[in-house]
Amino acid sequence: MNVWDILAIRYAHVDLPRSSCFLGEPKDGAMQRLDFYFWILTGGGSPIVVDMGFNAEVAARRRRVATLPPDRAFSLLNIDPDRVERVVMTHLHYDHAGNSDLFSKARFTLRAKEMAFATGPAMNDAATAHHYAADDIRRFVRLLHDGRLDLIDGDDQVEIAPGVTVHAVPGHTDGLQVVRVTTRGGPVVIASDACHYYASMRDGKPFPTFTDPRLKLIGYERLKALADGGEGIVAAHDPEVLRLFPDRAGHPDIVRIAGEPAFPLVSAAPFLSNARTEFNVDP
Ligand SMILES: [Zn+2]
Repeated sequence: MNVWDILAIRYAHVDLPRSSCFLGEPKDGAMQRLDFYFWILTGGGSPIVVDMGFNAEVAARRRRVATLPPDRAFSLLNIDPDRVERVVMTHLHYDHAGNSDLFSKARFTLRAKEMAFATGPAMNDAATAHHYAADDIRRFVRLLHDGRLDLIDGDDQVEIAPGVTVHAVPGHTDGLQVVRVTTRGGPVVIASDACHYYASMRDGKPFPTFTDPRLKLIGYERLKALADGGEGIVAAHDPEVLRLFPDRAGHPDIVRIAGEPAFPLVSAAPFLSNARTEFNVDP
């Protein structure tokens, strides 16, 4: 079995009302930082990119602060996007699906359900469509017809490479998938938007972008099971990722993840004063 390192790259951030980040939080003016990450798997074979972030133009249009644009991160890490062979898409939201034009040769992997969601009647709802960028979706249609997009039918677990599997986790969008990676410290799950914040999972307060909040809660249990009952879970938008995984990979906004976090997940997000339960590590 191959073992991999996960590089988590924080490429942008924005400050939002906390009520926009946690379902059921009061609109009391409190603010919450939302970080944006993408991920690269290295060390187990040809690098595998997981999501791609957005570019500087999108950052400006959506008023996000771009701190380490993905193209710059690739050059810092000495990885040539033109030589990347595989990009795994967790879903097609704008903050995950931009920059596909950086990869001239890669094949992309996505759930068929996500493609159907992003090109189907759900997009008649403006609030749902807001999270998708038409230019990104157009490029994925093009990739499909160019024979470079592998759509996974159904919800089955699929192996991307030895030690790397993808798993459907509904709740955020119709076709979200998470990536389970074998590292030398055990399995680590890149949760993507199945878990924006550790506190969401701990307190059962999902980020309020979902198809069904009950599915979000089921998704948290699925993440814990995929981590074999351990704490190897990487949240998609939590500033705590950089504290929990302190091994820097040549830049303050890039961490190397090769096992469980350095601190218990229950310690994450100290701004929450109303924590009800400890992080549940039951498998
Ligand atoms: Zn999303």
